[in-house]
Amino acid sequence: MKLHEYQSKAIFAKYGIPIPKGSVAESAEAARQIASHSSTPVVIKAQVLVGGRGKAGGVKVAATPDEAEKIADQILAMNIKGLPVRKVLVDEVIHIAREIYLGVVVDRAARRATMMASSAGGVEIEEVARTMPEKILRVRIDPVFGLQDYQARELAFAIGIDKPLVRDFTTIATGLYRAFVDTDASLAEINPLVVTAEGKLIAADGKIVLDDNALYRHLDLEQLRDIDEESQSEKQARKAGLSYVKLDGSIGCMVNGAGLAMATMDVIKFYGGEPANFLDIGGGAKAEKVKAALEIILSDPNVKAVLFNIFGGITRGDEVARGIVDGLKEIKTTVPMVVRIVGTNAEEGRRILADAKMITAETLEEGAQKAVAAAKNK
Ligand code: GDP
Ligand code: MN
Repeated sequence: MKLHEYQSKAIFAKYGIPIPKGSVAESAEAARQIASHSSTPVVIKAQVLVGGRGKAGGVKVAATPDEAEKIADQILAMNIKGLPVRKVLVDEVIHIAREIYLGVVVDRAARRATMMASSAGGVEIEEVARTMPEKILRVRIDPVFGLQDYQARELAFAIGIDKPLVRDFTTIATGLYRAFVDTDASLAEINPLVVTAEGKLIAADGKIVLDDNALYRHLDLEQLRDIDEESQSEKQARKAGLSYVKLDGSIGCMVNGAGLAMATMDVIKFYGGEPANFLDIGGGAKAEKVKAALEIILSDPNVKAVLFNIFGGITRGDEVARGIVDGLKEIKTTVPMVVRIVGTNAEEGRRILADAKMITAETLEEGAQKAVAAAKNK
């Protein structure tokens, strides 16, 4: 779950990271009010859960409350990368001398949190990684000892932070790492971390991505979820307890098991198809879950065929097949369904599915090819 800039910065502030004075507004009039209580010009910033808002015209400076209202009105009418802007952050303007990147992510290979810093701030870090990877410096953080001051200083010197600011940089880096750990985040970043013309460090932008699997221990953070930003299908999937990620292809995937779902997507691609989603229906595959999953998959107009890839283990294949048939009864669709089912009672399962006019397959290769062919003929 991603947090908005204003939410992330509020968390950063609790950890001693300086942030600009500001508030969030849902209307142009509210933005004007905030601006009129601010002492300097303000910057109006679209609160949408994507990066690159600046480039898209979603970050603008206003010199007066009147102008703040006008600009807020414009930004609130915008769509940025497909997301409607429903809120703007109105921050007091800071005078930027330098922009730095500072972030913490989980490095899975190292099984450690890694802090990254770059003198090329203000640009999306993926872009820096692509074009000038040598500009990204990393330190791995020991989970027992946490971020050590010497590590923060090492980063500070490597990216050329002036001596008098190194202590503040260390405080900010330590605060960022603690915020990352305490919220069970998978990412916490400040981009840009600004060196102001007055020679101070301040977080001009903030981003936190929380680990959904840890949200149960953070009911306060769960409250921050912006349901407006979730797509309809993601909302449905979350309610039904399914892991679902929408993709751009034409072949819907219904699979029991996350690893199996990944393998299924690979094989679809291998045979020239494009998966329309990642979906793990989990163990059991009861009719209700199958139905919920199918509704979600079929709500995507790009879906031209659905491939079921079911591994019968503890759950028997015939039971899963009955679940699929029962689930399908309540859904009217002309989208062809291909089923590959193996494991315990697979033959019985396939017989039940063939009776229900589904295309069956014995191997994943066969299933994927049939699904790719069915999608092309649609
Ligand atoms: P993003 O494009 O979505 O990452 O949004 P940011 O919050 O990072 O803003 C993009 C750019 O706008 C920053 O890199 C800054 O150059 C500029 N910007 C943001 N806040 C301020 C501010 O308070 N003052 C000034 N002068 N520029 C700002
Ligand atoms: Mn930014």
